[in-house]
Amino acid sequence: MQPISTLYIDRRALRYSETEKVRAALNLPATVIDDPGLVYQDLAGAEDSVARGKQVLLLTLNRGPFLRKCPGTRYYRCCGYKILHIGAFCTMDCSYCILQAYFHPPVLQYYVNQDKMGRELDRAFAGARRPLRIGTGEFTDSLIWNTCTDLNTRLVNVFAGQRKAVLELKTKTVNVEGLKPLAHNRKTIVAWSLNTERIMASDERETTTLSQRLATARACRELGYPVAFHFDPIVLYEGCEEEYLAVVDRMFEAVAPEHIVWISLGTFRFMPQLKPVIQERFPDSRIVYGEFITGMDRKMRYFKPLRIALCRKIAQRIRQHDPDVTVYFCMEDDEVWQRCMGFVPKQKGGLARMLDKSAVAHCDLDKKLLG
Ligand code: SF4
Repeated sequence: MQPISTLYIDRRALRYSETEKVRAALNLPATVIDDPGLVYQDLAGAEDSVARGKQVLLLTLNRGPFLRKCPGTRYYRCCGYKILHIGAFCTMDCSYCILQAYFHPPVLQYYVNQDKMGRELDRAFAGARRPLRIGTGEFTDSLIWNTCTDLNTRLVNVFAGQRKAVLELKTKTVNVEGLKPLAHNRKTIVAWSLNTERIMASDERETTTLSQRLATARACRELGYPVAFHFDPIVLYEGCEEEYLAVVDRMFEAVAPEHIVWISLGTFRFMPQLKPVIQERFPDSRIVYGEFITGMDRKMRYFKPLRIALCRKIAQRIRQHDPDVTVYFCMEDDEVWQRCMGFVPKQKGGLARMLDKSAVAHCDLDKKLLG
């Protein structure tokens, strides 16, 4: 991870105790601003404004909802996931990171008005009629924040006290020290994004190695945490099949299948505007030079037969290790499901239902929520 070198504080954030806690943990001088445009001016002056945005932290308020629906699309099978929007952007640097093109320009932000977040969570827990699956790792990496905040500790404790929702902390870091002493009551899933060592080396700067991620997953498992893995993005290149299958084998060497809540598979897809960013910032990366077509959501995706061929192999290898572990596709249609898995989600009550059942089975949620 890159260190945070510059701190800006939105004046409205000054009255929150979290602001002072983060400033003290970073031990940096802070510039208090009234206009966020000043941060963007700082970035605009940098040679690589995306890289600069990873070193500049803005402590500010989340003026929208903390708890949101995952921005899945209506064209592909969506899983009903909810996002807890704790902050934005990341101190690691992956070529394919959609956040480079998602915010204009991207800047590291952390939301300090967490009293509002607490109220939203309380309401969600009280009103839940089915299991809630909530993750913090959609607009940021969940565990980068462990270097300067105790947010994850507090969230694990909050989720530990109820039986309706699971928290998924998705990461490419090994920042789990703060999680170790917690009485998590199996309500927090610690999840790692996995890829081949070749892609990690070429396209995931400032992250951790495969061995480190798997060793940390094993350590979390030994502490009783349910774990999950996300093969995303799966990248096609010569020799990729053997390398992805080897990663599957190593994953199961690290964690026995009965402790894995779910494994997702998602092939590389990108908004067209990300391509020039990758070409400029990662000139040695080859990932944008494949056989792509434009999907119904306007994202570029691999030609479907290529997606199916590789995903089927990976799914089969997972099934050889354990026929029952929950495997799902992130944003794929019924044809891909049928040809890779031999069924479509509807036959199992829908994708959301499949994942709800797995969450209930592994995370000690109230079984009555399944109806
Ligand atoms: S770890 Fe995730 S959030 Fe961070 S740069 Fe990589 S893809 Fe983006």
